[in-house]
Amino acid sequence: MGSYQVLARKWRPHDFETIVGQDHVVTAITRALTEKRLHHAYLFTGTRGVGKTTISRIFAKALNCQGADGKGDVTAHPCGVCSACRAIDEGRFPDYIEMDAASNRSVEDMTALLERAMYAPTQGRFKVYMIDEVHMLSTTAFNAMLKTLEEPPEYVKFILATTDPQKVPVTVLSRCLQFNLRNMTPQGIVSHMSHILDEEKLAYEAGALRVLAAGARGSMRDGLSLLDQAIAYCGDRLTEDAVRQMLGMSGSDTLTGILDALAAGDGKRMLELADEMQTQGLSFAQGLRDMAGLLHRTALVQRVPGAVSQDDPDHESIARLASVFTPEEVQLYYQIALHGRNDLSLAPDEYAGFTMALLRMLAFKPAGLRAASSVPARDAGRTPVQAPPAPASGAVRSVGAGSGLPPMPKPVGSPPGITSGAGIPKSAPPDDEMPPWGESPAS
Ligand SMILES: [Zn+2]
Repeated sequence: MGSYQVLARKWRPHDFETIVGQDHVVTAITRALTEKRLHHAYLFTGTRGVGKTTISRIFAKALNCQGADGKGDVTAHPCGVCSACRAIDEGRFPDYIEMDAASNRSVEDMTALLERAMYAPTQGRFKVYMIDEVHMLSTTAFNAMLKTLEEPPEYVKFILATTDPQKVPVTVLSRCLQFNLRNMTPQGIVSHMSHILDEEKLAYEAGALRVLAAGARGSMRDGLSLLDQAIAYCGDRLTEDAVRQMLGMSGSDTLTGILDALAAGDGKRMLELADEMQTQGLSFAQGLRDMAGLLHRTALVQRVPGAVSQDDPDHESIARLASVFTPEEVQLYYQIALHGRNDLSLAPDEYAGFTMALLRMLAFKPAGLRAASSVPARDAGRTPVQAPPAPASGAVRSVGAGSGLPPMPKPVGSPPGITSGAGIPKSAPPDDEMPPWGESPAS
């Protein structure tokens, strides 16, 4: 990997202008800096990898920048070249202290930090304390912090960061100016990646970036490290196929192929495609996740045509699936895909888990396909025309879908509860037939 790793670090933002996707936070902070209306404690919330530490470092530079000519003052545009800016970028500025509350959560750690806070900064204008994962602090540590938060020395700024603001005491929250950092949208990640690749003069397929952005799940940091991996894996041209291969992802053709075969009731074809995935060493967990993703977008399109943009590489397949399945079916298959993924670790092996999920979809495919949607949900649930035959032993009943296959008669109408769209009602009265995924045999 070596030199490829550089990319993520190289493109880490060093000033407010290059921060992507957090405009609301950046605007508020730069305005406060420009107008010198500085609060003494800030709280950054947001999931991992959205830029809490990055913004905190830039903020520390903004407070301490001396300007290229040494005559600078607090600024929204840290120069990046003065000794303070460089020292903060390189992680060696004595007045910028990052502390991870997850590993320093005791009251002693906090008191030691607060005692040091009483001394004036040695090099900078401000002493800036960045306490990450602040919700991990013990109650006594929080209490120790409170008094200083109430009346900190004027040269001290606190930046608290957390992925879980619910766990931060209200007394602390109320003393902080709070900023909620947003998850990056896939489109935002794609456009930032394409900017970087253009600058780096690397070729890429747009589809490759979409796949990487989906894998980043809202975190630019994760996105950039995936991008680094992809460059190492693909060389100087990122193709969608290679990126999917790197991530162990099936092409969406395979997954839409499986769903098409499901629509046609063609179990043989479904298993053939699963076998292909097996041969290619693709991840079945990822396959079920992506299948759930496809079904989710299918459900959206059924409800709101146009909900999936034309940019979505799968939008044609999704439109087709939306027309061949009823909304109830889509809900059901979505549930089966999610539960199948959850149960993969319990399955004899991933192939078995994956194919059982497919067979389950097939088994619960309503026989009267079109008619199914016209049957009112509750009646369909209450008067099942045909329940699957009871297996010989009650102990295996909850895996009935598997034991009864393939000659099991297809239930007519939707299984109980499915049409509600709210998932499988766990508390539903134990109708003789619990959906097979409703409980594990152990419980
Ligand atoms: Zn500077």
